[in-house]
Amino acid sequence: MSGLLFQGVEGEVDASESLWPVKGTGLSPYIQVAGIQRALAPEGNTSSFKSDTLHEECGVIAIHGHPDAARQAYLGLYALQHRGQESAGIATADGQHLANIKGMGLVSEIFTDDVLAKLTGPMAIGHTRYSTTGDSALLNAQPIRVESTKGLIAIAHNGNLVNLGNVRSRLERDGAYFQTTSDSEIIVQLIAHSRAATLVDAIADSLRQIDGAFSIVMMTRDRIFAARDPRGFRPLSMGRIKNPGAPDTIIFASETCAFDLLRATYERDVLPGELVMVTEDGVTSRQYSTGLQQSSCIFEHVYFARPDSRIFGRWVQESRDQMGRQLARESAVPADVVVPVPDSGVTAALGYAEEAHLPFRLGLIRNHYVGRTFIEPEQRVRDFGVRLKLNPVRNLLEGKRVVLIDDSIIRGTTSRKIVRMVRGAGAKEVHLRISCPPTISPCFYGVDTPSKRELIAANKSIEEICRFIEADSLAYLSLDGLLQCCQGEEHTGYCTACYTGNYPTEWVDVDAILPATASV
Ligand code: SF4
Repeated sequence: MSGLLFQGVEGEVDASESLWPVKGTGLSPYIQVAGIQRALAPEGNTSSFKSDTLHEECGVIAIHGHPDAARQAYLGLYALQHRGQESAGIATADGQHLANIKGMGLVSEIFTDDVLAKLTGPMAIGHTRYSTTGDSALLNAQPIRVESTKGLIAIAHNGNLVNLGNVRSRLERDGAYFQTTSDSEIIVQLIAHSRAATLVDAIADSLRQIDGAFSIVMMTRDRIFAARDPRGFRPLSMGRIKNPGAPDTIIFASETCAFDLLRATYERDVLPGELVMVTEDGVTSRQYSTGLQQSSCIFEHVYFARPDSRIFGRWVQESRDQMGRQLARESAVPADVVVPVPDSGVTAALGYAEEAHLPFRLGLIRNHYVGRTFIEPEQRVRDFGVRLKLNPVRNLLEGKRVVLIDDSIIRGTTSRKIVRMVRGAGAKEVHLRISCPPTISPCFYGVDTPSKRELIAANKSIEEICRFIEADSLAYLSLDGLLQCCQGEEHTGYCTACYTGNYPTEWVDVDAILPATASV
């Protein structure tokens, strides 16, 4: 059990739980300076960003009404592994007890048969997490299991709260004692301090007091809850398995690709501002908040979500194909071949190639086994850089005018290495096309991005970026084009703040949105 945290039945909470670090200064992570609402980034967020790609923070799953709920949660997390590879956890309940096991590593490494055998009961919630180097710790893994005045609650969430410090200070004034720095514990403390008579009222009351991005699954000894923030930043869908002669199994997952592995049928999305409760008596729901404009994360369509998922009412595959086609319409260039930067650039490159009537070739091959298992001192890994992950296919690139399709440029250093690699393999010209607009502002809603000072597009013109990455030409998809590509049958309101700097919430990290010139 080394490297695992087991929180067993009531009264057997592992001591590690109470050793979670409390920010010793007593300083709230969010402060108000000269009338400006200022939030310090959650520990390990923007400041400790290490690589030149963007990372999602989490994936969540919940299962109600299955004899082996833990294994179902395991399979669901396996399908959601792309949303976080640093830690994972599963909590189960059987009507009386609530157990919780979490560990560092991939879902399949943590949850062996022996470990799953300890997690019994027909209900489960699970979580898989990406975290930056500074907070890659077991103690920040989820689900979190907390004893509260409303009983034992396990909670797992995807997203970032933005008014966290404000709420936390108020709770501390009211006598709350925090064991962790996690957003999830704030939600549980709000529930515990709520004067509402029932648990479901207390949860609704608590969710109304927090702001930011959250898709949450929660479990008590005998019921499951699922909720999304009122703007619907992060995805959360509901599915069902029909059990002949027995109640249906109800499932909630960050992405619908999890339902496929579980042979569940997608039923609907949890709505922005909706709280769903599942008990032995069935599913009930309420709108705990209304009236805020939807601002779902458009970057889920560009990069994060799996192409076989249906997100915000639209297949991701379809959106990415359209992005490629639109990119070709907006910025076609004479070329011989279209090559994706794998894996996330593949679908957009297929769309581009079809629209431009050019051959599509896998001219870069990705090594899928690079990652946590390649243990080297950090600097040496970074020196190997892109060559560890990608290798060019020389015979496909030599003497060709190449259109290279990627989904983003963050600092520009990785893009430059890829352009050099393609040119080094003999390409005559390298034209980089990006399937979204320039990333000019950081995200505060659950995507780990560097501050504005480090975002190349916040500090250089497209021409300057083109020179920096040493491409023959560079073009991005327009914002209007992107929005058009991500619209399904129902109109979806999107957050585009990382492309526009227009944030849908009031709270932002003032330091993180200062351009490079302001810091010198
Ligand atoms: S700022 Fe960008 S990454 Fe963050 S939620 Fe908005 S669209 Fe998504």
